[in-house]
Amino acid sequence: INKNEQNINDLLSTIWEDSQTYISKGQVADYIPELSKANKNLVGIAIIDNKGKLYTKGDTQNKFTIQSISKVIALMIAVKERGESYIFERMGYYGTNAPFNSFEEIQTQNKPLNPMMNAGAIVTTSLILGKKEEAYLKILKMIRFITKNESITINQAVYLSEKKTGNRNRGMFYLLKNYGLFEAEDEESLNNYFRQCSIEVNAEDLAKIGYFFAHDCTRFDGDKTYYNPEMSKLINSIMLTCGMYDYSGEYSRKVGFPSKSGVGGGIMGVVPGKYGIGTFNPSLDNHGNSVPGVYIMESLSKKLDLSIF
Ligand code: GLU
Repeated sequence: INKNEQNINDLLSTIWEDSQTYISKGQVADYIPELSKANKNLVGIAIIDNKGKLYTKGDTQNKFTIQSISKVIALMIAVKERGESYIFERMGYYGTNAPFNSFEEIQTQNKPLNPMMNAGAIVTTSLILGKKEEAYLKILKMIRFITKNESITINQAVYLSEKKTGNRNRGMFYLLKNYGLFEAEDEESLNNYFRQCSIEVNAEDLAKIGYFFAHDCTRFDGDKTYYNPEMSKLINSIMLTCGMYDYSGEYSRKVGFPSKSGVGGGIMGVVPGKYGIGTFNPSLDNHGNSVPGVYIMESLSKKLDLSIF
């Protein structure tokens, strides 16, 4: 182990320890009943450097549902299949000051603000080609490919819990359908959205997804099957403007690299040309971002000078 590696390991240990004090400042999501069972005290940090070397600290093997971070993968697939202009005729490139599950602005714009809020993500997934479960299966397959982790699968209990209680999302689905933003015979594409959110990953998997978008869609082991610099530019710019919900502007100032969070407690960070980062802790602030997770990202950004600005 060389000096640089030792430095990163020491840094992760320090940040990990300091992050514990932030656990009490947030709350586990309970609007999806099954999510409220998460253990608030787990904290995991995983980083992959530009050579594909993985560093971990804490609870990086514990699984949690990917939630909103799946929206990035769905967007990539939809854009690949339909082209960017087709997708963005049906949603905007806007940031937002509204919460992730807000849909009031659909009425003024006639389309969702962006693909990272629920409304935009429901449209994105509905635009992926295929019948029944196919769109979800494509998303699952892509996540397994990027992470090289075939064991990734759905948390069925979370899926059923989202489906049962997701009436706000269901309302949005019909409103968006009413605006003619996608064709759907039934609720299967909404179910695919619920399914994609219920895919279980760990912090290491998130670091690998981060690496992929940090390196022009090259996998952490160098595989270039999906190599596409334009795609990573699109995905990263969208994450920077709205990946952290209505906290994205402040996050861009304080952390300064594209990231996506999910209400399961994960944050996936992309430091272009350099690191992929994954953090996990389910104690959320009122934006829906993990409080220790945001602290970890901010600390890493400062200590390793990672802001892209
Ligand atoms: N499944 C969650 C929902 O639709 C995802 C939200 C999130 O992670 O922001 O409410």
